[in-house]
Amino acid sequence: MKHILSIMLFAICCTTFSQKPEGSPVKPDNMLPVRGFCITAPQPKELDEFIKFIDEELAPRSVNTLILRVDYNYQYESHPELRDSVALSKKEVKRLVAVCKRNNIGIIPQVNLLGHQSWANRTGNLLKVYPEFDETPSVKMPEKYVWPNADGLYCKSYCPLHPEVHSVVFALVDEICDVFEADAFHAGMDEVFYIGESQCPRCSGRDIAELFAGEVRTIRDHLAIKGRKLWMWGDRLLDGKTTGLGEWEASFNNTYRAIDMIPKDVVICDWHYERPDQTPVYFAMKGLNVVTCPWRVPGNAVLQVQDMVRFRNHSTPEMKDRFMGMVQTVWSGAGQFLDSFYGRRPENAVNTTVNCFKALYDEIQKMSALNN
Ligand SMILES: [Zn+2]
Repeated sequence: MKHILSIMLFAICCTTFSQKPEGSPVKPDNMLPVRGFCITAPQPKELDEFIKFIDEELAPRSVNTLILRVDYNYQYESHPELRDSVALSKKEVKRLVAVCKRNNIGIIPQVNLLGHQSWANRTGNLLKVYPEFDETPSVKMPEKYVWPNADGLYCKSYCPLHPEVHSVVFALVDEICDVFEADAFHAGMDEVFYIGESQCPRCSGRDIAELFAGEVRTIRDHLAIKGRKLWMWGDRLLDGKTTGLGEWEASFNNTYRAIDMIPKDVVICDWHYERPDQTPVYFAMKGLNVVTCPWRVPGNAVLQVQDMVRFRNHSTPEMKDRFMGMVQTVWSGAGQFLDSFYGRRPENAVNTTVNCFKALYDEIQKMSALNN
């Protein structure tokens, strides 16, 4: 009996040994396939320094994914009427493409679809030029924006059932993916508060989760025609009430049931800024790919990357690959971030985006070395 046990023990040891031989290097790609950075695309005048930042700061930290929130900061040829007054040219975008190619960084351009069609008291370009796409045309933009307000206005949404809206936004999506030579597109889709509104003749009375899921599927299917993947924020797919996550980083308007209705090849950017919530497990168990996104609390970013690596190491093979990695999110403009990063805009607080970015990538490098 003892002999049999020792043979079994030996077999178990051998199995363990063969799975991970001691001293074998664990490449960062195996530890954390996505090592990302998400920021507003630079203004043309910020481009030189942003390229330097990619070369000297992102590349050495082994960042391999750059999500650029472009929106209307590009000189679109398909819809020139939607361009910002100052916008990146094709030649300028190609400089970004070149520096990222040189450093093996994939660019994922973002244009906010569905929600975030206004900000504070400013209407975004889409609804300014095409007011007929507005889900809530009777909600007028205030002169001075305050939250909360009587209209429950956070940001405007477009109507996902308007018959013309997709021909306009998909032309932008195609053009921005082409110019950035991207195989993935980020559609935003966070914090959608206006959806299925009673004042919309097309959406009123419909199931809000189905409306949200329908728009995700429509965008995903469009991208799939050219072999591109859809990335999006995850907050609308979490139940804000039951989880206690609230109405910003999760949903209070019943969109969360859409998690069971959307295609499984979507990549969820799961942002949690105040706590290292364990929600990546929920997304992965639903069959969805997920990356965790910190913002400005370095301590949380460190815990979140440790969690992400632990999730990968302690999961079934079916689940493991869905835990894709980490993306640092920056919510200031690129210029403001660079001012802070290069010390031109002194910040004394501990909880800053710059400190969070550094702490996240220090931890990734530390864990990668430990795993070697
Ligand atoms: Zn509608």
